[in-house]
Amino acid sequence: MTSAEARQTFVIVGAGMAGANAGESLRRVGFAGGVVLLGAEPHLPYERPPLSKGLLSGATPEARIFPRDAGFYHEQRIELRLGSRAVALDTSRRTVALADGEQVAFDRLLLATGGEPRRLTLPGTELPGVVYLRTLEDARALAAALRALSAGGGRVVIVGAGFIGAEVAAVCRTLGIAVTLLEILPTPLSRVLGDDVGARYADMHRAHGVDLRLGEGIAAVRGAGQVEEVETTTGAVLPCNLLLVGVGMRPADEWLRGSGLRLGEGALVDATCETSVPGIFAAGDLARWPYHMSGELVRLEHFDNALRQGEAAARNMLGQRQPYATVPYFWSDQYGLTLQYVGYAHTWDRVVLRGGADDGSWAAFYLYKGWLRAALVVNRTRDLVTLKRLVAVAIAPDPDMLADEGTPLKALLPAPA
Ligand code: FAD
Repeated sequence: MTSAEARQTFVIVGAGMAGANAGESLRRVGFAGGVVLLGAEPHLPYERPPLSKGLLSGATPEARIFPRDAGFYHEQRIELRLGSRAVALDTSRRTVALADGEQVAFDRLLLATGGEPRRLTLPGTELPGVVYLRTLEDARALAAALRALSAGGGRVVIVGAGFIGAEVAAVCRTLGIAVTLLEILPTPLSRVLGDDVGARYADMHRAHGVDLRLGEGIAAVRGAGQVEEVETTTGAVLPCNLLLVGVGMRPADEWLRGSGLRLGEGALVDATCETSVPGIFAAGDLARWPYHMSGELVRLEHFDNALRQGEAAARNMLGQRQPYATVPYFWSDQYGLTLQYVGYAHTWDRVVLRGGADDGSWAAFYLYKGWLRAALVVNRTRDLVTLKRLVAVAIAPDPDMLADEGTPLKALLPAPA
């Protein structure tokens, strides 16, 4: 590192896992200049996955969601500025404007502002008791509401059986709360996992007592001063004390509009995480990047991606110029079952299942034109390393062997050259 580099300031906007890990990574690889981490929320960087799982059920103490304490950032000379919302980016003057009017100058910049929940605009959705889940505040309020319902009875309606909706439904049942889960698609989790796997999750939710209504959306929300009932698209009227909306998220890129940066449902970056403006990078839920296995532009909403892409972006801010080429990975916990998914399959033409849902552990493989694009295991962590290798080497496996429990997954790996 030259003395000129040591005088540079790298600014990171967004103190989630992508931003925080980028800051740490800059120090880990020896950057000696200034690192400023700007976060809109008042909290130290925290992990969101427990917000829809252990933090709601009470199994995970809140202190566990913070991977680092304030002292760590201080020791690392990462200037963590909480409650600092960026409102505009000036790419020619190379400054970020904060909500309070301050201008923060940067030599290199990382955009890691993640995303926010998609909101419903139906009348009634502004009523108290209509809630979303993205932040620690959201989770604290939801956990308190669920505790009260668990003690006093009542019903929760959840609209959207994506991962957040499905996980919260599972927590509700664990707490003994009556819950209706509305999903306009034919199965839960269908957008990401497809209907074969979704059907297994539908059975599981029903077996745990969820009133799962598929092909049914929300038509109206009513209440006098508080949500009291939801009318569905089939005309059913569901009394409820709480309505959780889990209809996906949108990237937090509004503050970048007008900056000249290329946007397209997120910040568009190249393989090195650099945006259309040199020296400005993006990572995590905000970034849309060319997936090395297929060339498709993807934007992932996974914890593991936030960590890894944050680190990759940090290295490339320092000029390493290495392509970000990781095999995507995410997980979901519902009713004591852990689903782990590797790869990325936006489209597939065949899903091969291995093992029955009643076996307590099973796997699914997503093929497109014969090629293995992605795979998942449920309560089979032992297979994860092999799955990652199978997806990474891009094989076109025999579907019968994939389905056959008697064929070790390792046997599908290509023979070493
Ligand atoms: P974020 O976590 O969204 O962090 C971005 C930060 O930037 C936020 O703190 C935000 O306040 C801040 N910010 C936004 N705008 C500005 C601005 N203008 N100025 C300054 N700061 C700003 N993934 C999994 O793989 N497995 C799971 O089980 C899982 N469970 C999840 C459960 C929940 C409830 C949620 C919400 C997400 C879950 N995820 C899970 C997804 C995972 O948490 C995200 O992919 C990850 O948080 C993305 O990290 P990020 O740093 O890119 O964005």
